[in-house]
Amino acid sequence: MEEPPGGTDFGKHPLLARHRAQDLWPVVVAMDKWVLARQLELTAIPAPPFGEGPRGERVAELFMELGLEDIRTDEAGNVIAHWPPGGTKLGGKQSNAEAIVVSAHLDTVFPAGTDVAPKFEGNRICAPGITDDGRGLAAVMALARLISELPVPLTRPVLFVATVGEEGQGDLRGVRHLFRAESPLAPVFGFISLDGVGLDRIIHRGVGSTRLRITVRGRGGHSWTDYGRPNPIHRVGRIVSRLGSLPLPADPKTSLTVARWAGGTSINSIPQEAWFEVDLRSVDAAELETLERTVREVCREELEEASNSQSQTNTLSLEIEELGRRPAGVTDPSHMLVQAAMEATRHVGEKPQLIASSTDANLPMSLGIPAITLGAGGRGGGVHTVEEWFENTRGPEGIFRALLTVLLLEEA
Ligand SMILES: [Zn+2]
Repeated sequence: MEEPPGGTDFGKHPLLARHRAQDLWPVVVAMDKWVLARQLELTAIPAPPFGEGPRGERVAELFMELGLEDIRTDEAGNVIAHWPPGGTKLGGKQSNAEAIVVSAHLDTVFPAGTDVAPKFEGNRICAPGITDDGRGLAAVMALARLISELPVPLTRPVLFVATVGEEGQGDLRGVRHLFRAESPLAPVFGFISLDGVGLDRIIHRGVGSTRLRITVRGRGGHSWTDYGRPNPIHRVGRIVSRLGSLPLPADPKTSLTVARWAGGTSINSIPQEAWFEVDLRSVDAAELETLERTVREVCREELEEASNSQSQTNTLSLEIEELGRRPAGVTDPSHMLVQAAMEATRHVGEKPQLIASSTDANLPMSLGIPAITLGAGGRGGGVHTVEEWFENTRGPEGIFRALLTVLLLEEA
């Protein structure tokens, strides 16, 4: 504990020396119990998709208790607090362009009614959402407290944010709102999302995704007396089979997953309807667009073929619904934000891993705003299942890494 993790000499780095990073490590360690208590408390407030309100209210209260000002909940439900107190103006200049956003997401994947009360099992704390993103929210609270109490105050303003709608169905609606064209917040210097656990991963590339529900409908009928009428399930089967064998590039990594399908009326009926949902992903925006075009083409071709071989009254119809669309994006590894996170990672004794994933950071990345996502320390597993767990192993290092990242973004 006495020795900062990594055992690195902070004195060698002018910014870390200026901010007495060495002295901040014991502060972070001393705060560990408080951080964990916030994690438990926030996780215990259900936050199903589109039901983040109550958890957001508690986050706003906590921001207030920490002495932050200008705390508000925007129209989307994001909770935003400003540091330093006194608003967004610093040194007389409008300075959001210099601001860092430190963010985590309020929502979980779990529907209303899920038991989210944390339970202790040995070293583990089990609760749906305890890791994703209970840990991130607790880390945002920790950073809000640490940054408010820094012996040498930051010169950069910080916006602490808890977003709504990060998970699947939410389709990034929180960050979308935060960075909408007419947003009073934008532009900002950079965006740091704290999401989940771990100490070494730096998500600097946002995997884009497009999610579609494809429905094929027909007249249906009796499986014997109406035999010969086109069968939506048979057609969906053909489409799925073709999609499953599409060649996809390994670099840039691109994927196609038919994730759900259903249809039919009864064992003795030609179905009237069949549908499937497909999840398309790529680290490259153009590749993702091409893939979506191909998927739509395959569906149209199959439907055309079905109608060519049938009389007019016996055709199938096709509906393609968009279930979600997350833009792809990247923050260049040479950018100061990525560099700062890498350096901070080394300071906690880890080797930085630059990776691609799909998080709140996708959205700012796609707009050209530098953005990364970091794990907030500790270990975890079973994410997105009711068996989700968290273990506070090297939890403080995660908080410290995020803090050092912010310190390293100060102007030299
Ligand atoms: Zn998450």
